[in-house]
Amino acid sequence: RIDARESLFIVNEFSKSHFSENLFESNEGKSVGMSYFKERGFYESTIKKFGLGYAVRDRSDLYEALKSKQYNIEVATKLGVVKENRDFFNARVMFSIHNLSGKVIGFGGRTLSKEKKIPKYINSPESEIYNKRKTLYGLYHAKNDIRKKDECILVEGYTDVITLHQSGLENVVAASGTSLTEDQIRLIKRYSPNIKVLFDGDNAGVKAALRGMDMILAQDMNVKLVLLPEGEDPDSYLKKVGVDQFRTYAETEAKDFIQFKTEMLMAETANDPIQKSIAVKSIIESISKIPDTLKRSLYIKQYSSILELDESILHRESNELIKGEM
Ligand code: ATP
Ligand code: MN
Ligand code: MN
Ligand code: MN
Repeated sequence: RIDARESLFIVNEFSKSHFSENLFESNEGKSVGMSYFKERGFYESTIKKFGLGYAVRDRSDLYEALKSKQYNIEVATKLGVVKENRDFFNARVMFSIHNLSGKVIGFGGRTLSKEKKIPKYINSPESEIYNKRKTLYGLYHAKNDIRKKDECILVEGYTDVITLHQSGLENVVAASGTSLTEDQIRLIKRYSPNIKVLFDGDNAGVKAALRGMDMILAQDMNVKLVLLPEGEDPDSYLKKVGVDQFRTYAETEAKDFIQFKTEMLMAETANDPIQKSIAVKSIIESISKIPDTLKRSLYIKQYSSILELDESILHRESNELIKGEM
C-alpha cells in the first residue's frame, strides 16, 4: 500500500510528466509553450532538467488524464493542481518546484497573455508536502555548486535561476512566492554561510533586497548585494551582456550589505542631524544583529569614520540594542 504522503508525490510527478508531454508533443504546447521557452533562450536540456512544461487552454485536460489513469482526484485537489473538478493551471508555461531530494512538491505557472488583469504567475497552494516558507526554488539543482563555490546566489524569479544555471552559474536559488524567511536562510546555511543577493533593478527589487538582510546577519552569515541596472533582472541582464560580462559585474559590483545600506541611507540624509540619527540607528541596528563580537567591532571601527561618529558612541548604541534583545 502507498501511504498518503507518497500518493501526493505520485500525483505531482504524473502532473509534471503530463505538462511536459503537452510541451513536447501537443500541437498547442509546441506552438505556444515551446516557442515561448525557445524565445527565452532555454535549451531543451534545461527544460528537461528543471521539469518545465505547459498547461493547455482546456481546463479539463489534466483532470481527464488523471481520471483516465485512475489517480485520486481528492489527492490532486489537495495538491491544488485540480480545483472544483477543473484544472487549476491553464494556458500557462509550467515550472516544477522540487524538494531537496528532487521530488516535485508544487508548480508555478506563468501566463503568456499580456492582459494586465491576469496574474503573471500563479503557484500551487501549500500542502502537506509544500511549505513555501521552507522552500527555495532551484536549491535541489544548486546545492552541490553552492557547496563547491562556498557561495549562494539569491535571485527573485524562476527564470533568473534557470538562465543563470544554464549559463554555468549553478549556485543560484530564488525565494519565489514569499519574502525571504528564516527557514530559507537556514537551508542555505547548510551548504554555505555566504550569500550574494542579485535583485531586480527596480524599487521593488531594492526593497526586497533590503528586507530580510538583517535575518541573514543574525544567522552569522555574510551577505553581499548586487544591484542590477535599472529595469534589468538577472535573466534579462545576462542575456543582454553575456555570461562573462555578467560574472564580472556580479563580482565587481557586489557590496557588503552594511556598506550598501550605509551608502544608500547616507545619500538620502544630506546633513540634517535628525535624519542622520535615524539613518545611523538603522545601520547600527543591522550591525548589532551580527552575533560575532569581533566582526561587529570591526564593522563599527570601519564605519565610525564614514558615519562621522566616535567608535565609542556607536558601541554604546549597539550594546543597548543587543541588551534590549536579550
Ligand atoms: P519573467 O521574466 O517571466 O517576467 P520574473 O521572474 O522576472 O519573470 P518578476 O515579476 O520579476 O518575474 O517576479 C519575480 C518572482 O516573483 C517570479 O518568478 C514569481 O516567482 C514571483 N511572482 C511574480 N508575480 C507573481 C504573482 N502575481 N503571484 C505570485 N508570485 C509572483
Ligand atoms: Mn521584479
Ligand atoms: Mn524576468
Ligand atoms: Mn524579474
